[in-house]
Amino acid sequence: MAPLLSQGGYTDSRGELWPELPQVEDFASVAAYDARVGHEVFRTPAGHAFQLDRAWTPEEERHFRMLSGFVAQGSQGGSGHGLRATVTTHHPVDEEYRAVFPSRYALRQHVRKVVERADDALEAGWGINLVPSTGYAWDSEDGDDIVELLGEAFLEGGGLAQQDMMIAFSADQGSGAEIGIAILGLPVALVKRYGTVTTEATICQHEIGHCYTLVHCCDSHCVMQAVLDPAAFGSFHAYQESCSGQNHADVLQQQQNRY
Ligand SMILES: [Zn+2]
Ligand SMILES: [Zn+2]
Repeated sequence: MAPLLSQGGYTDSRGELWPELPQVEDFASVAAYDARVGHEVFRTPAGHAFQLDRAWTPEEERHFRMLSGFVAQGSQGGSGHGLRATVTTHHPVDEEYRAVFPSRYALRQHVRKVVERADDALEAGWGINLVPSTGYAWDSEDGDDIVELLGEAFLEGGGLAQQDMMIAFSADQGSGAEIGIAILGLPVALVKRYGTVTTEATICQHEIGHCYTLVHCCDSHCVMQAVLDPAAFGSFHAYQESCSGQNHADVLQQQQNRY
């Protein structure tokens, strides 16, 4: 895998160069940010593609807090057939994230819970079973934005550590307001400390979707919406949808054995 750390900004699908990742504050409104950035595919100088998963606005946070029953629903999309694809995972965890937990045991239980919940729908629908296998105490220091933080987790966190996928966990405050990141079609993702186990599992599931080449869609019941929606946890849309240009269920079926 080519180095993930990047300097020199990011290029979007129109060829526009962004010296720094766009932030909500750079736009007249959150709606304006979403309209311009929500479905954009950016590339690092090394060519790695990603989308931005922004944090909630205070209004959205109130809205989602009011919703109850963020319980894992089975996938609506897949057939439940096909070969099982066991994917072992490696988890670099940074010092700010580790500090949240009273013990190594509690940390490990939490990470397992997030990842095991995140893969429920993928396992039910497509036999994709993530197995948290190794961890790494990583100290995050120099990631200026979330893409660099992901690269740092990979380079300093042991790479894939001979597993199939890396899902790093971070509570770093200095890397922008995004809540998760993954490289499209590569087995590397990072989940930020955000809300409850359920919100983190939703972020994790969404990022895993990106790893399996899923892009943001406009289906309000789908976990791949550009804005975090715990009510959509477990659902990947199963029809040809126009914003994403994808039928996620078909893509997952095709990509089932990607890792
Ligand atoms: Zn996303
Ligand atoms: Zn979707």
